[in-house]
Amino acid sequence: MRESTAGSPARPSQNSASVPQTRQADRGWHRPERPLLKRRSHPQEITAASYVSDLPEEEEERVEIVIRFGTVFRSMGVILLTAVVVATLLTWWTPNEFLPQKSADQLAIAHATQARQQLATHIPERTIGIVSGHRGIYPSTGQLDPGAVCPDGLTEQQINENVAIKVKSLLEREDYQVDLLDEFDERLRSYHALAVVSIHADSCDYINDLATGFKIAGFAYSTVPDADARLVACLTDRYAAATGLPLHPSITDDMTNYHNFQELAPDTPGVVIEIGFLHLDRILLTERADAVAYGIADGILCFLRNELPAGESTETLLETTATPVP
Ligand SMILES: [Zn+2]
Repeated sequence: MRESTAGSPARPSQNSASVPQTRQADRGWHRPERPLLKRRSHPQEITAASYVSDLPEEEEERVEIVIRFGTVFRSMGVILLTAVVVATLLTWWTPNEFLPQKSADQLAIAHATQARQQLATHIPERTIGIVSGHRGIYPSTGQLDPGAVCPDGLTEQQINENVAIKVKSLLEREDYQVDLLDEFDERLRSYHALAVVSIHADSCDYINDLATGFKIAGFAYSTVPDADARLVACLTDRYAAATGLPLHPSITDDMTNYHNFQELAPDTPGVVIEIGFLHLDRILLTERADAVAYGIADGILCFLRNELPAGESTETLLETTATPVP
């Protein structure tokens, strides 16, 4: 119940002019005046401010905090959106004059290197040919050619192909481009590469206890005999080291007149390797194919890197490198 103002002269005046002063004085010590809300001119905000001033004080504060947070989040949203738009535009279009000279130079070098790398994968100067002996159709019969065949059905072609695939993989790890070629591959006509190695294996028949070991030969009529000789020397050394097999002394005309040699481009060195006998060296060829492949790949790399095969004197190497390798 409220008392009458007329009957209580000692009470503080409650006329309309004194109310704001009292309220201001009451709350002035813990909360400053809020000019921000009162200066706003947006219609919605004026409404919100008027609404705030009509609420109880705690409620008023809460609503005011919500409004301030809203304003802050909206500003952050605008800033974020602007940043995204600017970043996108700069990604699409970065004029060189925006970059410091050093950064522009580095960018130009990176672009040139990328272009060179793309080109490098297509130049023959990184190509090596690996012929998988007996693979593919034999032209005179139109049939597949297994090469030597063991009584249990194991074929020379299977052994050769398994090794050839591994050699290709090892050389590709060294950044060479490797063509895996069939015995009568059409690509062999005037084939140009750093080197060609044709992989074969010897008979599966028992001949005698000496029918073990590997053989390597170049073309009897080679147009690059020095390069061929160096490739033979490198392969002989590295293959013996990797497999432990002895070099078998007999080299047949079949090897030195091998038909692949006649097809190669004149500047391309080529050799044929018999990686072992299917009978006595069977365990090596079937169970240690990784070592067989490593010996061949290492021999090719020895040749390409101009390394000195073990047992060769420097004089011999200089002599055999007289013809530049293509
Ligand atoms: Zn063969």
